[in-house]
Amino acid sequence: MIAQTTRNNLRRILDGSHRQMFIGGEWVDALSGAVIESRNPANGALLATVPAGSQADIDRAVSAARVAFEGPWSRFKPYERQVLLLKIADLFERHWDELSLSDTLDMGMPIARTRAGKNRVLGMLRFYAGQATALHGETIANSLPGEIVSYTRREALGVVGAIIPWNAPTAASIWKIGPALATGCTIVLKPSEEAPLTPLLIAELMAEAGVPAGVVNIVTGTGSNAGAPLASHPDVDKIVFTGSTATGQSIIRASAGNLKRVSLELGGKSPVIVCEDADLERAVPTAAMAVFANSGQICIAGSRLFVARAIHDEFVERLGAFAKGLRLGDGIDPGTEIGPLISGRQRERVLHYLGEGPAEGATLVAGGGRPDRGDLAQGHYIEPTVFAGVTDTMTIAREEIFGPVIAAMPFDTIEEVIQRANATPYGLAAGIFTQNLSGAHRISNALKAGSVWVNTYHAIDPAVPFGGYKMSGYGREGGIEHLHEYLNTKGVFIRID
Ligand code: NAD
Repeated sequence: MIAQTTRNNLRRILDGSHRQMFIGGEWVDALSGAVIESRNPANGALLATVPAGSQADIDRAVSAARVAFEGPWSRFKPYERQVLLLKIADLFERHWDELSLSDTLDMGMPIARTRAGKNRVLGMLRFYAGQATALHGETIANSLPGEIVSYTRREALGVVGAIIPWNAPTAASIWKIGPALATGCTIVLKPSEEAPLTPLLIAELMAEAGVPAGVVNIVTGTGSNAGAPLASHPDVDKIVFTGSTATGQSIIRASAGNLKRVSLELGGKSPVIVCEDADLERAVPTAAMAVFANSGQICIAGSRLFVARAIHDEFVERLGAFAKGLRLGDGIDPGTEIGPLISGRQRERVLHYLGEGPAEGATLVAGGGRPDRGDLAQGHYIEPTVFAGVTDTMTIAREEIFGPVIAAMPFDTIEEVIQRANATPYGLAAGIFTQNLSGAHRISNALKAGSVWVNTYHAIDPAVPFGGYKMSGYGREGGIEHLHEYLNTKGVFIRID
């Protein structure tokens, strides 16, 4: 169960009271005085109100970030930034119960899952800490006349604007803040209005660790009032965005004014391919949780399931049984496997797709609507759902649902399934289940996706780049490439003859 001290520590976000945002090292309200509510998606209870930041608040946060970037922060040596990141990691380790509970309350992810995210987030912080002292330019031989030495420098880009969605607030925040601190950038982070509370908790830990004022700023608010001004701000050097493809497109347009750098982690409609020789004991639960984890609210959800025709019927039957056996409930209960969706609006969106499936000819195998248990009536729950008899052209096979919905389809040949798997505007991730080594290589090479998992799913490591092909975005998070996105490269030539 949750430790009593953690409950006490979190009482302030549980009791409906007001939380301020963090700008220039100070806790402040929106200049307009406006607020937005954050509610628990499991029962509708008011958790807190937070400032509804707007253009004026973004302006002062960007200005604080600029002052810090040009001032004291620029004198931090790589080793000092490394020590700071390691201290933050230690604080996260100590406060992980609070961070995971905050995510569970604010966006519904089951506590077992938010707790299990600990090693990933600590791993990110410690990976970035390691990189802080490993960033370097190169000495490059040139062919110029005379004697000229040439080398490159990697310089911090400046003020980074970060905009994140609601489905994994802690990890999404650290994937933006970690590389900023490692490279010497400063950052203004705008959380989702649907789940703003954990980023505020993170700001407290940053301050406790000794991050100088203005280096990390958190501005709460809506996408149109706070996100859009950040994306178009003339003094922001880079925008890192995680969210929907449509918003990503508007961010590209908004960023054009000062040609700021942009990296985008966007939506997906990821294929999972189950070959005839797959180990079904492993493939059934893994393919199911490739979608049902976090109630399908994951960008990498493997929502198009292609199963070899010879095993299709058995696979779908076992998948349906697995889906029916999953335990729905309030994420705060350690036994809960499937929590609520983030909001009533999101639930209505998913219910619309649940209607589209049968209307276009798909067969319902499991789930298909809201659960009828009385104790779930106040939350935004949807049953884990499996459709069979789906075709590539149906709406549920084409559009990102962002809910617990699997569209299962048979396939006959590897060439055919590769072509069908790639026939989507998205390219974020893909899964393959097979025991054939050459088949695994062949298919994974042919898939147009930023991450491919064979006989597993959801494997994400801070040292391995993650990101999209096609309309799933560009830029990478994780790995050295990630750090380079927060750096400018300068070529220097020095005549020495
Ligand atoms: P969203 O695009 O609606 O919102 C994401 C963030 O953008 C929020 O903070 C929101 O306030 C802000 N925003 C909205 N409109 C804006 C605008 N015009 N200008 C600037 N900011 C704006 O997405 P969502 O509904 O919160 O999240 C779900 C989507 O995110 C899905 O499409 C999912 O696939 C995607 N996602 C992708 C990844 C990834 O790593 N690829 C991870 C998580 C979620």
